[in-house]
Amino acid sequence: MTQESLARHARSWYGLPVEIVIEGDYWHWVKAGPVPLPHPPVVNLIVRHGLPRDARLRLSYAHEMGHIQTLPLALMHLAWVWQHRPRGQGVSLWRRLAWLAGLAVVHQSAWELAAETYVLAQNPAEYTRSYQEARGNPAPWFWALMALLALVGTFALRRTQHTTEE
Ligand SMILES: [Zn+2]
Repeated sequence: MTQESLARHARSWYGLPVEIVIEGDYWHWVKAGPVPLPHPPVVNLIVRHGLPRDARLRLSYAHEMGHIQTLPLALMHLAWVWQHRPRGQGVSLWRRLAWLAGLAVVHQSAWELAAETYVLAQNPAEYTRSYQEARGNPAPWFWALMALLALVGTFALRRTQHTTEE
């Protein structure tokens, strides 16, 4: 096999068994408990661009594990924003759909930020060194964009409540 596929088993801090498989550079397979969550590694592909292969793999595993470890946090954030969804008879379907689309983007950004913070926290010195060596890497843009979407988006979504009272 030229495309190696590496599987790792772990357990989240809240007891969920996890299986993370990274196949080549293009597919990740995360299994959380009984639920398989295969997905293309969009963030890992962009953010690890230009890093040596072993660093890329190690940080990609840590990122996927970060998603699992920060899942409770991501769900709490989701629930917190959800309380402010537009409600009532006067709210049009389009407005509800736009709000939901915004929620999807903001939730994903917040969760990406949490997962990557987990990667950074594992070994801050190694993380910064890897990125200093990989010149032109888009990681700073990733951090800036995710932080902006998560912060501004969260407050924008929570504000909608005040404008939709009847
Ligand atoms: Zn991610």
